[in-house]
Amino acid sequence: MVAVERGRRKGPILTPSSLPCLGNMPTINITEGCAHGCLYCYTQGYSNYPGEGRVVAFDNIPALVRAELVRKRHKPKRVYFSPSSDAFQPLREVQDVAYETMSVLLEAGVEVAFLTKGKIQERFLELFSRFSGKVFAQVGITTLDERLQKALEPRAAFPRQRLQAIEDLAQLGIPVRARLDPLVPDLTDTQENLTSLLAELGRRGVRGIAASYMFLRPAFAQRVSETLRQFAGGSCSTDMWSWRRLADGVGGGQMIDLVKRREGFGRLEVLAAKHGIDLHVCACKNPDLGLKSDCKIAGTASSKIGDGSLFESADAHRKTKP
Ligand code: SF4
Repeated sequence: MVAVERGRRKGPILTPSSLPCLGNMPTINITEGCAHGCLYCYTQGYSNYPGEGRVVAFDNIPALVRAELVRKRHKPKRVYFSPSSDAFQPLREVQDVAYETMSVLLEAGVEVAFLTKGKIQERFLELFSRFSGKVFAQVGITTLDERLQKALEPRAAFPRQRLQAIEDLAQLGIPVRARLDPLVPDLTDTQENLTSLLAELGRRGVRGIAASYMFLRPAFAQRVSETLRQFAGGSCSTDMWSWRRLADGVGGGQMIDLVKRREGFGRLEVLAAKHGIDLHVCACKNPDLGLKSDCKIAGTASSKIGDGSLFESADAHRKTKP
């Protein structure tokens, strides 16, 4: 059960993001807090986090956006939903505001990009069908295992609903990428988990995925650790992996050790290629990997990982292939 409060946003909405992977693209959070309640959600450490099971929905956002678009001499090319929430949370109040805001943008000629772990309702598909060249989608999904997904993301859409969203969007001609983030070592980055997931994604026409591994912050580290231990009956725990503290990029969080990440991305790259899928690793969350690519979180068109693999195990695999 999630309690929704109504709030009023103040000040300009369409301001450039400070997130490196979004360049200067404006972003919109429809809410503070997020009903999906993902265990690993970094917004739990934010000062404006309303608390578990609470969401503040800003219902004046469409009016503010409309007024700004009229005032602005230069409209933004594209707007991203949402760096610290999800526009498709299973709450009528939130989806009403998201629908109206996206409609205002699209009708004004502004492109809409989004990342979601939610179920996309019919009315959004109908809206997107009228503007399919102006919509860019990423769907977050790390497993097909419903029990595991519910443990990690209690109120987000089931994997089958996210696959359906991918299929529905693709049928409208909307470029859809999947985002495998965060991967959990030995749980969602296993050969078995990834093979079945990538097969389903490939079958639905996904040709690009973005990936990153879980990182921990004090606000949720213990909860994540306890849940993993309970879920895996002691065979999976955050204590089992080496962590490194990052000075930047992820706000001082702890990231899985470089060697394990590099090896994991290498395996993922090979598995994805078998389904005709390119891997883009999030450079913002992996500054120590020295990548020049981006994770295309908002559908930006820039270089892919490179001509060859950056990951040793993928290289090794290619060299040994007949
Ligand atoms: S969907 Fe995104 S914003 Fe919402 S709880 Fe999960 S990680 Fe946080």
